[in-house]
Amino acid sequence: MLFLLIISVYILNLLVIVIFSFRKKKISNSENKKKQEGIAVKKAEKYRREFLGNVSHELKTPIFNIQGYIETLIDGALHDPKVNLKYLKRTSKSVDRLIYIIKDLESIAQLDSDEISLKMTKWNLQDLINEVVDQFEIKANKKKIQLSHDNNTTEVMVYADKDKIAQVLYNLISNSIKYGKHGGITKISCHQSKTHCLVSIKDNGIGIADKNITRLFERFYRVDKSRSREQGGTGLGLAIVKHIIEAHDQKINVSSSIGKGTQFNFSLTYPNDL
Ligand code: ADP
Repeated sequence: MLFLLIISVYILNLLVIVIFSFRKKKISNSENKKKQEGIAVKKAEKYRREFLGNVSHELKTPIFNIQGYIETLIDGALHDPKVNLKYLKRTSKSVDRLIYIIKDLESIAQLDSDEISLKMTKWNLQDLINEVVDQFEIKANKKKIQLSHDNNTTEVMVYADKDKIAQVLYNLISNSIKYGKHGGITKISCHQSKTHCLVSIKDNGIGIADKNITRLFERFYRVDKSRSREQGGTGLGLAIVKHIIEAHDQKINVSSSIGKGTQFNFSLTYPNDL
């Protein structure tokens, strides 16, 4: 009898310990969850503040410039045929810059929203590359950069959102010219494997140092701020590119060497019925 009593007290004790430790674990789990949520909220808040700070900083320069040019024109420059056109041209340049920034911000906002849906269709990669390359004829000619499209490798049907991939190609080719050297070359090709095709945009321009590579796809990140602005850059181009490729569940990578050049590769899938 005594033995049974001891055993039951022992089991009861065990039960109390198990329940207690389970409750403790539950409480510490929920505390942990709250802590994690708190960290995430703080991180999002910091990100939002930095993003707004970056946006207003980017917008401020062209707006103040426009204000300055207009005031100069009002103060008399308008009637001076030697300078009025100069100030109007500068105003127009600053307006162009505002348009670039707003277009990129619009793309980021659209890609960020949950409503973003990809319009997946099958299309010919070579045709799209030709279309995008054509748009850069004047810009490339100005810097005597040769845009070389390896037609032998890009003749393939792919399955993706054509307009969005056009934007990816546009941003990468644009960068290869912006940061390319005078008289240089940009090579666009595609390596086809069984499951994917890997599109490459390779230039022999200024290159990027290893220490900057990891931050390249961050919003507003630039290696050389003044060079980027001078070239009409917003620091959003590569962030948009990464967003689009990842929305397709595909990958993008970059390899670069200072003074030698840069190569971006991104993957695309084939249509199922290929
Ligand atoms: P930006 O509008 O400044 O060009 P991006 O997001 O497109 O912004 O690129 C971020 C930064 O990465 C650029 O400011 C530039 O310093 C660097 N970069 C991008 N592409 C190249 C390239 N092909 N060669 C050298 N540097 C590049």
